[in-house]
Amino acid sequence: MNAWRVLSLAILGLLLSSQAWASTRVGLDRNPLTFIPFQEGTRVRIVQGNHGHFSHSGNLTYSYDFDMGSDENSSSNPIFGEPVYAPFSGYVRAIKTGAPDFSCNSGSSSCNNNGAGNGLSIQVEGGEYFVNLMHMQEGSIPSSLSVGRWVEQGDYLGNVGQSGHSSHPHLHMHLSTSVWGPSVFFDFVEAANPDSGDWAISQLAPNRYVLDNDRRANLGAPIDSPNNSYTSGTFILYRRGGLALGDDYRVSTEGDDSRFYWFFTLTELDGYYNVYATCRGFSSRDPDVQYRVWGRDIGSRYIDYDQRNFRYERADLGRYGLNTGTRYQVRVTGSGGGSVCADAIVIELD
Ligand SMILES: [Zn+2]
Repeated sequence: MNAWRVLSLAILGLLLSSQAWASTRVGLDRNPLTFIPFQEGTRVRIVQGNHGHFSHSGNLTYSYDFDMGSDENSSSNPIFGEPVYAPFSGYVRAIKTGAPDFSCNSGSSSCNNNGAGNGLSIQVEGGEYFVNLMHMQEGSIPSSLSVGRWVEQGDYLGNVGQSGHSSHPHLHMHLSTSVWGPSVFFDFVEAANPDSGDWAISQLAPNRYVLDNDRRANLGAPIDSPNNSYTSGTFILYRRGGLALGDDYRVSTEGDDSRFYWFFTLTELDGYYNVYATCRGFSSRDPDVQYRVWGRDIGSRYIDYDQRNFRYERADLGRYGLNTGTRYQVRVTGSGGGSVCADAIVIELD
């Protein structure tokens, strides 16, 4: 992190402090990016985040545990039985079953699958990352999900349970680079790196893919070479501190005529996509910005948007027939007199 970025960040922090925004990171870091593995709209608590005191140390340092705010160790805990969905498309590489719920919940033994309980390890298609899900409900993982089976983003994987080494019903999740391997640092689409005690709302849906402002698409997206660039402004990545609700990836700028670009190429899934821009909660903004969606095969379309509406909605940039192999560009331009928010672009196959 260089000095001017630190300074810029401090200034932005002052400007945004009245909206309780906290800057925690700058620059392009390109951690893997993935959805929270629950149905869209499900509100979950990160009961234990990275470096959590209960069990997130050593190989599990960069793990997350989800519940719904209750520590009650019984089947009436609201998250017990909650359906779990694949955060990305990929192959099932391992399945653990046979661990009971509400017994054998301490330590590591054969009765609780060495602490993991019931769960799955899924490898993203063509990629190095695996998602590992643990402590699931006995008997809930569909028998159709055998090792080697392909799952699509958003497919049902089973339910949250209370199996394995666990104090109360919750879902453990971490990414790794091998089956059940040591945890690696990653970001959620919905909430960057939430802390223990934060809440987040899943935005997972089938055929929904996200391009953030950090040269990333979510894992498993049919997107090649996501990229960003900007001109004529100081765009700074900042993230929301405290309660994590909604879109956390955002870049803002002061100054006139700033432009921020997202680039992507589809690797598969030709079809009609609805395209959106997000920046929920964005403040101190230029009310009038203009997006341009461009590709050789779709031409240019210009969409004017009042960023003040980002508090309530996402910007609808239209519906486009997108084709494999074409490079597409989305650009946002400010008209001056406020910040331009460049958070994420969402494409959803119709
Ligand atoms: Zn855990």
